[in-house]
Amino acid sequence: MKTKLYLIIALIIIPVLSIANIPIDSTKTNVKKVFTVVLDAGHGGKDSGKFVANTKESDIALKVVKILGKQLESHADIKVVYTRTTDKFLELYQRADIANNAKADLFVSVHCNAAAATQAKGNETWVLGIHRNADNLEVVQRENSVILLEEDYKEKYVGFDPNDPSSFATNLMIQEEYLDNSIEMGANVQKRFAEDLKRKNRGVKQAGFAVLRLSYMPSVLIETGFLTNKEERTFLKSSAGQKKVAASIYDAVLDYQKNRDINLFEVEQIDTSSPTVIKPAASNAIYKVQISASSKRLEAKSYNFNKLPEISREKDGGIYRYFTGNFSSLKEASDLRKKAIVKGYKSAFIVIYENGERRRL
Ligand SMILES: [Zn+2]
Repeated sequence: MKTKLYLIIALIIIPVLSIANIPIDSTKTNVKKVFTVVLDAGHGGKDSGKFVANTKESDIALKVVKILGKQLESHADIKVVYTRTTDKFLELYQRADIANNAKADLFVSVHCNAAAATQAKGNETWVLGIHRNADNLEVVQRENSVILLEEDYKEKYVGFDPNDPSSFATNLMIQEEYLDNSIEMGANVQKRFAEDLKRKNRGVKQAGFAVLRLSYMPSVLIETGFLTNKEERTFLKSSAGQKKVAASIYDAVLDYQKNRDINLFEVEQIDTSSPTVIKPAASNAIYKVQISASSKRLEAKSYNFNKLPEISREKDGGIYRYFTGNFSSLKEASDLRKKAIVKGYKSAFIVIYENGERRRL
């Protein structure tokens, strides 16, 4: 009798589950997923970076990154990927490429500063600036044009064409999605440097660095101190100083990771407890793939979104949401989502429209 009842319940529940097509995500049971950090020691090889009183920026960056990497590697749930571990030359786009291929959660680039005024001191963290003028865009375009020399740049830089300005708009929007997280990480770094190292806090700043622009993930560039300032140079050159700098960045990364875990858990709580998820989709339901959300209003045209089909735009408060596709079947939407991810829209997700309402699947 009992088994019969179970069978009936199963027969009712299974079709409902499959109609609703609930994504049974393996990460749900394993909340603490592997967190991948790319550590990028600035410059290297023929490019020493700033060179002051026999001190190379590239050397200090590499030493700090190696200490930092070793500390992070001691965590089972953190994976460290290096752009370089020796004194070799790397183009900016190669660094971003390494990070994108690793599908990293965070990109940290380590540098040292210099200024004509030797009294200038302190540290600052840069994130990608999104409000830039056409002159800046040209400079960035020129810097990045070297990508065209690469034979298979189309595969390596999916959706990125240095000659196509709309390609920049799209890339910008991808990074803009990560901007909040980048700023959060930047603030963590600044706080740790100020509190632990008693450094002058020069703040989190924004600019159009190519290495930040090309990486599809939260990204920061840390200027650890001034080589032109004697006191800071001596500190950065010493192994004790390098350990302290590495320790501050290490703490900032852990602060950032901890916050991601909390957010992940909250999202899943809502997902699993939401009764609307269980409900099978209405027969007239429409599925689309959200590829981007931005304060920037772009024409809802395919050429603005790496040639993805059927672009639509919706305004939500101060934010524009951009979608691709318009399907009555979830399967088609799910195929298009995969395509969008390949094209660089890493955080693309499916939305469903039912009874005049949109919700995320
Ligand atoms: Zn540098």
